[in-house]
Amino acid sequence: MTLFPEMFDGVFHSSILGKAQDKGIVALNAVNFRDYSGNKHGTVDDTPYGGGGGMVLKPEPIFRAVEELLGSAEEGGSNMPAGSKPPRIILMCPQGETFTQRKAEELAQEDHLIFICGHYEGYDERIREHLVTDELSIGDYVLTGGEIPAMVVIDSVTRLLPGVLGNEMSAVTDSFSTGLLEYPHYTRPVEYRGWKVPDILLSGHHANVAIWRRKEALRRTLQRRPDLFEKLELSPQDSKLLQEVKAELGK
Ligand code: SAH
Repeated sequence: MTLFPEMFDGVFHSSILGKAQDKGIVALNAVNFRDYSGNKHGTVDDTPYGGGGGMVLKPEPIFRAVEELLGSAEEGGSNMPAGSKPPRIILMCPQGETFTQRKAEELAQEDHLIFICGHYEGYDERIREHLVTDELSIGDYVLTGGEIPAMVVIDSVTRLLPGVLGNEMSAVTDSFSTGLLEYPHYTRPVEYRGWKVPDILLSGHHANVAIWRRKEALRRTLQRRPDLFEKLELSPQDSKLLQEVKAELGK
């Protein structure tokens, strides 16, 4: 739900999200909540009680848009397909829970997601208190609107749905999915400007390649995101590889 549905056109219809919709794996719709303003001027915002600058999104258009989309509560949300889980109603806001790969995995289990994209100063607090099920931030910085944050979440959730990524890409070894950053990749040519691909990757020895990749994922995580180890339980083999990495780095 947005005041700028045209912002989603390119993202929803290109590349992997476009293909996922063509394959019928996901349906993405941008709804303009100005259409639910209930007044002939299409007013959706107003000045804040108590004074101060900025405009605040009014509760009526957003409540009405969500309720009409779902079907009335008395009819048990009659517009939702029978047997589907009630939708998660997600408010995009910098004060929300920080979005992570874990959250993407959680949301990928749902049947329906509704994203509310703010603009201007913010939302009437009653939207936060009485309508939404989740509040999500994409990081500790402020954007002009919730559209780009919603696209970020939609993109990362969609690519986790079965059948969305072809064989050429895999979500299983992605950075964060394993709890570690991903190992480095190489492709042809075997030597470029004097820089060579590691010999092990050319050996054709799959077990050794797997060990090398695991070790490099551990090395990369240690060097760039040591904080990720706090949430991780390492196998005895991982601990051994990590010791080797530390020794190599003189740590
Ligand atoms: N005054 C608000 C910021 C408003 S930014 C505050 O201080 O909290 C305008 C809109 O952009 C927000 O309503 C939200 O929908 C969106 N937005 C901005 N930064 C965001 C972020 N980091 N994550 C998610 N949404 C964000």
